[in-house]
Amino acid sequence: MLAEVLLVLSSLADRAGVPRPLLLAMSAVEKCETLECMEPRAAELRAQADFTFAQYRDLREERLGDWHEAVMLSAPGSDWRDAAAYAAEVYTALREGVPGLLAPQDFTLPFPLGPPLLMLAANFSEGRELPIEYLVIHDMEGSYEGTQLLFLSADTQASAHFDIRGADGEITQQVPSTDTAWHAANWDLNSQSIAIEHEGFAELAFPDALYRSSAALARFITDKFAIPKDRQHVIGHYEVPDPHHPGWYGGYGHHSDPCDAWAGEPTWHNVIACRWDWDRYMALLTGAAPVVP
Ligand SMILES: [Zn+2]
Repeated sequence: MLAEVLLVLSSLADRAGVPRPLLLAMSAVEKCETLECMEPRAAELRAQADFTFAQYRDLREERLGDWHEAVMLSAPGSDWRDAAAYAAEVYTALREGVPGLLAPQDFTLPFPLGPPLLMLAANFSEGRELPIEYLVIHDMEGSYEGTQLLFLSADTQASAHFDIRGADGEITQQVPSTDTAWHAANWDLNSQSIAIEHEGFAELAFPDALYRSSAALARFITDKFAIPKDRQHVIGHYEVPDPHHPGWYGGYGHHSDPCDAWAGEPTWHNVIACRWDWDRYMALLTGAAPVVP
């Protein structure tokens, strides 16, 4: 029986133009061994591979780990957490092998294999009033754990979709992507955006693991919601318009994160000492620089 499954799936992988080990691992995770269920999965993976390998110049089809983004995008469900959990299962099966079907494989991944964390924030609004068009970059001015707890408290009146730990890039999701987080101090922009909070302080430099993990997450978000990967759509909190005061920025609270402080009036271009490295972040996001070190 196993030999037959191996034969059927291997020949399907060859026809679809996807790596045999990857399709075998997906079939083990999805508990699906027939052409009927795996044929559409192989076609979906190939379609997402065409999309990702065409846009990310740092990815190579011959490296199994570089299929991670395509595996995530082909996963059932639209949220990062579901997609990351699915990809983690597939790559665990690849790493450990599947008895009788697949020998253990060697590969490097863009981010850690741990199961994605969820700590649902106390404050956010269900659904969206406007289509998602922006990704907003924040920094915590504090610790990862402190920020998680802050968003768990109903008193905070704020939330973000994702938190990223500085030391290793671990990601916690606190608001589902299809819901509206309270983060930008501009209601329309809240409704139009996904928010990522980064551990650390704007007056200090941000760690390497944080940039890489955030960029890997941002790749998935911008791909999934068709957000252009440019600085008009991937913006800092300090670039969010103040809804009550045209020409001023940082939302109505005039936040300057992820940069240091305002030089005078809060216009987006006079933040002092912006140590958030936009060139580096955008290079990682677009694939101009490799997200895997
Ligand atoms: Zn902020």
